[in-house]
Amino acid sequence: SVPLSFFGGIGGASKSGVLVKGSNYLEALANTEMVVFDKTGTLTKGNFIVSEIYSKKMSNQELLELAAYAEDYSNHPIAQSIKQAFGKTIDSSRIKDIEEVAGHGVKSVIDGKVVFAGNAKLMKREHISYNDRKLVGTAVHIAINNEYMGYILVEDKIKQDAPHAITALKSAGITQTVMLTGDADSVGKKVATKLKLDKVYTELLPADKVEHVEELMKQKNEKRSLAFVGDGINDAPVLARADIGIAMGGLGSDAAIEAADVVIMTDEPSKIATVMKISKKTLRIAK
Ligand code: ADP
Ligand code: MG
Repeated sequence: SVPLSFFGGIGGASKSGVLVKGSNYLEALANTEMVVFDKTGTLTKGNFIVSEIYSKKMSNQELLELAAYAEDYSNHPIAQSIKQAFGKTIDSSRIKDIEEVAGHGVKSVIDGKVVFAGNAKLMKREHISYNDRKLVGTAVHIAINNEYMGYILVEDKIKQDAPHAITALKSAGITQTVMLTGDADSVGKKVATKLKLDKVYTELLPADKVEHVEELMKQKNEKRSLAFVGDGINDAPVLARADIGIAMGGLGSDAAIEAADVVIMTDEPSKIATVMKISKKTLRIAK
């Protein structure tokens, strides 16, 4: 039977803005060794802003319009930033055959022309030669009928609460902090260095994230747990694979909240250390 204090633990967590979906997770939380983070929307705001537009083929405004049309159907935070920068209404009747390519970008048919908008990986996949000079930020390359048109740079910011989230985890006894991201190597490394994370893996596809979590599960002490924290935009399979799947509920998708064992109701990653401390206290009382 479940000790009564476990309910107190779940209640205490919920007062701190954390939903724990079962008393068994209190034990796993108290026993966590490794915390693996998804970057976007978890350690960073997930709120990109267009910082640069570059094209030799059309005006900046035309490139932005093209990208906004290509991204019209996407819910990805990068798509949102481009549509917001464009700022005008989109005539959806011009758009057909929309395809979201996870970890790459989008493909749409606009006015009968095939438009790709996404990262270097997408351009390589489609054999489109693109501007590959060292770009600082997350580049969205755009091509029409396989002809390169230019790029839009978007930038996200580290959450104000993130540095504290990492130091609080260290003081709660977490020995390894890891970040996984589909974003560019330059962007991922910069965030990891700023936050003093122990490990970072970049330019990953959603399936690669599952593989990395499986590999990290083998590396940790088998009696202790691995927690994965994500916002659920295509990381629901990773949330399910970890010992404890934690979703950022503030921004996160319904799929993430569904797949997760623990939901942070605010957008503060420092709540992870808070709920781990509550779990430890609860277990001491229960024992
Ligand atoms: P993250 O690990 O940051 O959650 P995702 O798996 O969502 O990343 O995406 C990885 C990369 O794929 C992004 O950094 C971006 O380069 C590209 N990408 C994904 N979706 C889109 C989109 N709708 N438009 C442009 N680029 C995209
Ligand atoms: Mg994501």
